[in-house]
Amino acid sequence: MSTITANGAAAPARKKLNGYVGFANLPNQVHRKSVRKGFNFTAMVVGESGLGKSTLINTLFNTRLYPRKEIPPPHAERPKTVAIESISADIDENGVRLRLTVVDTPGFGDFVNNDESWKPIVDNIESRFDAYLEQENRVNRAKLVDNRVHACLYFVQPTGHALRPIDIEFMRRLHQKVNLIPVIAKSDTLTDEEILSFKQRILADINHHQIQIFYAPIYDNEDEETIAENDEIVRKIPFAIVGSDTEVDTADGRRVRGRGYPWGVIEVDNEDHCDFVKLRQMLIRSHMEELKEHTHTTLYEKYRSEKLVGMGVTQDHSVFKEVNPAAKMAEERALHEAKLAKMENEMKLVFQQKVAEKEAKLKQSEEELYARHREMRDALEKQRLELEDKKRRLESGRPLTPEKQGYQQASKKKGGFLRN
Ligand code: GDP
Repeated sequence: MSTITANGAAAPARKKLNGYVGFANLPNQVHRKSVRKGFNFTAMVVGESGLGKSTLINTLFNTRLYPRKEIPPPHAERPKTVAIESISADIDENGVRLRLTVVDTPGFGDFVNNDESWKPIVDNIESRFDAYLEQENRVNRAKLVDNRVHACLYFVQPTGHALRPIDIEFMRRLHQKVNLIPVIAKSDTLTDEEILSFKQRILADINHHQIQIFYAPIYDNEDEETIAENDEIVRKIPFAIVGSDTEVDTADGRRVRGRGYPWGVIEVDNEDHCDFVKLRQMLIRSHMEELKEHTHTTLYEKYRSEKLVGMGVTQDHSVFKEVNPAAKMAEERALHEAKLAKMENEMKLVFQQKVAEKEAKLKQSEEELYARHREMRDALEKQRLELEDKKRRLESGRPLTPEKQGYQQASKKKGGFLRN
């Protein structure tokens, strides 16, 4: 028997098996395959230098991914650029391999003028999206290398007040491109009460500016224990953390990762002392795959669709037509060539028009010259005829007509060449 679903399609009927078939082993097959392939994860850390970014990464993965830094002398120069560095390591735990990449943004926010210091960081995230998109568009895309940033730990200075404008600006620029995880750096410098009110203030600012930070999703079919665990993680956001990659002795004789103070020891792995354990739980133990999936299905997908629409690829009933980069380039080249040809034609027309105007002007002056020449020739011819007439009369002894006399006098006044 089959039932009809909301979209009208017949839902497959549930059948009971009469014996063991074996597909219950599917999760194990997936597990073995994943272990064989290994995993990869890329995290980004952002915040001023000295906030404990490298120490936290070392503490999280329990390894010296970052060599211990020399403590700079008090007046040493700060780094001058927001240079982004990426460091990778293969780590192994009980036979499971993880390729971990950490993208560090040393110097972020350190300068007097921090305008647009978020830009190289956004560019870095987008160029990683572009690299993935380029692989997807290849003919052979069997082995996609995923270098996209899966989580961004944003280090908030332990001021105890509120988020600074630069924190808000940065988060606003990034929240739709990366899973943002705000952490309160060096929280051992604040009291429990200060941490509590600081957290509330940070969350209020985040809500006010409609910044989306990463919250682990809760699924309907999740068991109660998982839901409760998830809930505890969510309640700790933003995580107040303490990092330390060295061990210290506690008053009761234990050796722990922590920071020693005259009044006692702050233990990194003690949930009563800080939220490090919960951050590690979310980032590594329970939600690493979730972070990767959200990066792929939501953040990257949004970037990808906006990029393709920007390139003129149309959306067809929510399914994008395949983009062919070669065809796209050919189309762009043809458009460019057509534009050049149009410009050349227009220049030719202007040139022809100018030449025609010049020719018309020359023709006009030529005609004027001819007309003047004709006038002068006629006048001279007239004079010649009159002179000949005069000569004939003088030779025959006849007097000049009154008209001719007037002409002679006028010529004399002008200083003309006619003489009696
Ligand atoms: P980065 O420049 O942000 O990578 O900072 P580092 O990890 O190099 O840390 C700078 C200094 O802060 C070092 O001396 C660390 O030992 C110290 N530090 C790191 N994490 C903490 C912390 O949680 N609390 C305190 N009090 N100091 C820390």
